[in-house]
Amino acid sequence: MDYRIRNFNAGPAALPLPVLAEIQAHLLNFKGTGMSILEISHRSKPFDEVIEDAVARVKTLLNVGDDYHVLFLQGGASTQFAMVPMNLLSPGDRADYVNTGTWSTKAIQEAKLLKKDIAVVATSEDRNFCYIPADIRPTPGALYMHVTSNNTIKGTQYAAFPETGGIPLVADMSSDMFSRPIDAKRFGLIYAGAQKNLGPAGVTLVVIREDFLKRSPKDLPTMLRYTTHADKNSMYNTPPCFAIYVMDLVLAWIMEHVGGLAEMERRNREKGDLLYGYMDASGGFYKPTADVGSRSLMNVTFRLPSEDLEKKFVEEATKAGLGGLKGHRSVGGCRASLYNAVDLAAVTELVDFMKEFAKKNG
Ligand code: PMP
Repeated sequence: MDYRIRNFNAGPAALPLPVLAEIQAHLLNFKGTGMSILEISHRSKPFDEVIEDAVARVKTLLNVGDDYHVLFLQGGASTQFAMVPMNLLSPGDRADYVNTGTWSTKAIQEAKLLKKDIAVVATSEDRNFCYIPADIRPTPGALYMHVTSNNTIKGTQYAAFPETGGIPLVADMSSDMFSRPIDAKRFGLIYAGAQKNLGPAGVTLVVIREDFLKRSPKDLPTMLRYTTHADKNSMYNTPPCFAIYVMDLVLAWIMEHVGGLAEMERRNREKGDLLYGYMDASGGFYKPTADVGSRSLMNVTFRLPSEDLEKKFVEEATKAGLGGLKGHRSVGGCRASLYNAVDLAAVTELVDFMKEFAKKNG
């Protein structure tokens, strides 16, 4: 096999090895068509089977029925920041937003740009978003509460979603989708860019409840209406066929190889416990940036005693075959992304490297 590093990138990120092998094995001839999946028509039966399979798997993993629609859209999660308020909020409607970092801030900005009536009901900006607010209270009558379930840059994650008294949640789950079981029925809409836990860049998964779908105003541009995509099973225009195909393989990997979301969560917890556990015992050499109860199991953000040491750490780790450990350029520091496809062996190797590095430089 070709040389492969331990990939801790934040996204695009590691994909499960069996998925990559499957893509490779069938790249030149997809299901006996004599064509690559990269070459076949999206109107063909073999592709139809792919998209149908992906829809069914998403619904099974979320344990939802026909009152939810599964869409594969383009434009990234960033387009959802606008599509959500555009489609859901008509004049007179209000929505709540919780601000837990860079991506929530962008979602809020887009809703405001569209002049929608939204309230920021909680924020952790006072301490540079190092925690998930504890006391989140919905505005009575709000149509939805928007949360970012995992904050990729700040390294925080909701341990439990806010109690909303029946107000549906709308969640950006870009960086922790299918990393753990959730109670999907509490959500009116979930969206996630694929390039962290679900597949390659180029497709955004949207799961929308029937009553929320019906809210799409008819006078929105065609491509920006959820109903356009729901009515045509995500094939109103040419969908990102390859990205959807890979997502389907990743979903199959979670279900059949891993054994489902409970086991996925157990593995993610095991990896997180190992890394956080080591850092907490490192005598302050490695300092996680997130508060204990808000720590992300997906993006572990941490600091070393100085920026020079952080630079050296990332450089030496890269040389040792541990890639993608630099923190986001907006916050600095270090970040190890431990998405579903990053296995315990990779995290064990990272911790071993960290021990050696601390010994030499501490
Ligand atoms: N939300 C979150 C939580 C993210 O991590 C990202 C990307 N890092 C985005 C939204 C933006 O996604 P995209 O690049 O697909 O627009």
